[in-house]
Amino acid sequence: MICIKCREEIPMGEEMNYRGQILCEDCYVDAVSLPKTCDVVAVHSAKMTRKMAGQEGTDGLTELQKNIYEYLMVNGQVTLDALMQQFHLSESQMSREFTVLRHCELLKATSIEGVKYIVIMEDS
Ligand SMILES: [Zn+2]
Repeated sequence: MICIKCREEIPMGEEMNYRGQILCEDCYVDAVSLPKTCDVVAVHSAKMTRKMAGQEGTDGLTELQKNIYEYLMVNGQVTLDALMQQFHLSESQMSREFTVLRHCELLKATSIEGVKYIVIMEDS
């Protein structure tokens, strides 16, 4: 399978379907990283792609994404700033990781008394 965006060969099982287009994981992350965190179609296709690949929960995530998820499991709600400090990420890196986790319906952002927190999404 060839990525339609960068024309690279995609390793078996790593092809990502983004709105009917087959992308490699990098291009997929780029595509979903655009600030569209509440995009229902993207959420659906991310979930379907993971389902088809037999991935559930944190399967198929990078080590960093798993670590962020596990950190939130332990700590409950954490602000974006605190996560950036904890994992030494810039704001754009953090929002990229969060976007992937959000699209896989593992994490969500919530506002508590005007402060934005990242929390585990229920039923994930
Ligand atoms: Zn690509």
